[in-house]
Amino acid sequence: MRKIVFLLLVIPTLVYAQDGIKPIIDVHLHGYTQQTYRPVPGAPESYDEFKAEIRKQFKKFNIVYAVKSGGQFDPDMEEIMLNAYESNNYPKIDTLELKKLISEDKIQVWGEFMPMFNGLTIADPKFTPYLKICEREGIPIALHTGRGPPNIYKRYPKYRLQLGDPILIESVLIDYPELKIYLMHAGIPFYENTLALMDQYPQVYCDLGAVLWVDQGLTPFHLKDFLIKAKEYGFIDRVMYGSDVMYWSYRIEQSIQKLESFEFLSEDDKRKIFYENAVRFFDLDQLQKK
Ligand SMILES: [Zn+2]
Repeated sequence: MRKIVFLLLVIPTLVYAQDGIKPIIDVHLHGYTQQTYRPVPGAPESYDEFKAEIRKQFKKFNIVYAVKSGGQFDPDMEEIMLNAYESNNYPKIDTLELKKLISEDKIQVWGEFMPMFNGLTIADPKFTPYLKICEREGIPIALHTGRGPPNIYKRYPKYRLQLGDPILIESVLIDYPELKIYLMHAGIPFYENTLALMDQYPQVYCDLGAVLWVDQGLTPFHLKDFLIKAKEYGFIDRVMYGSDVMYWSYRIEQSIQKLESFEFLSEDDKRKIFYENAVRFFDLDQLQKK
């Protein structure tokens, strides 16, 4: 974790110097490689353009840290990434390899972990040895919860909406009480159960991700209702900002503007969601003091 210590000493100084724009930590970013990048509709033509666009957005909005699954950015951008091991099924690596990646500081997070796309939940016994390692080594799990895009089952035949209900992870919270875990997308549409879990298990955090920019169906209503309730119940301290940027860099701006637009959230609440909660969850503060 040496890399993180160094960067945190440097970055906040740079950040606050930047026209007083307050810093943001994006806990939900997707990266690509030259091979995996695809110029899908609305996305930059080339991989290099994509990386340049992301860089521009990071600078514009003063994003000082991000949790990134998959791919690589340019070396200076890589310096502000917490690298996440992405898997949507059983990990493609064995436990020895996982331990090696952790000990060499090549990964700092396991995610985006998407077992529901393959008909599973994180409570499946086959994940047990991996969860034990993550708990012991302090590796947070970034778990996809909630839903996928409409008709996603055609691409992932084992996908089931019901497997995105966060209540299904309860046994994991009991069996691995020290495990750090955040529920991506706040479990929306099952956000009442996200709130119930946050109430019962104080270690549970969540991020917002794509629900900040999905503008169709139930999601925008659920997002607003979730945030209102999270505030009312006193859980804003455990909600984190994530852009869930995939191919479209403008999602960063869109998602930030969406969160900023909620007048029922105070400036203080927004600071917590954009930055402070992530510092605490990823122990960035503690590392800085070392
Ligand atoms: Zn994602």
